[in-house]
Amino acid sequence: MTDQQRPKQRQTQLPAADIRLREFQEWIEAIYGEKDRARGLQGTYMWFAEEVGELTRALRRQHDRDNLLEEFADVLAWLSTLASIAGIDLQEAVEHKYGKGCPYCEAVPCDC
Ligand SMILES: [Zn+2]
Repeated sequence: MTDQQRPKQRQTQLPAADIRLREFQEWIEAIYGEKDRARGLQGTYMWFAEEVGELTRALRRQHDRDNLLEEFADVLAWLSTLASIAGIDLQEAVEHKYGKGCPYCEAVPCDC
């Protein structure tokens, strides 16, 4: 049996440490992709914007680290699902724009 014929095992856990952005995007898509695609880009964007507001509030408070962890994860998850709906591979996007350092001067750290 070739790898292609073998039935795909359903992933039940986020890959361990050093997860790549692409794996995270696939993970979020596996969890929410169907619902988010049905809601569509505009409705999903509204959720993303709401989560950015919640992150803003958590950053203003600063003292609740658990809340900060939660809100950063939420914003990244909603950004990821927006990218999926829009047909954008986040890892490709990040590599394309920031793969050589600062996109304007290409220095690390930025020399602009
Ligand atoms: Zn620069």
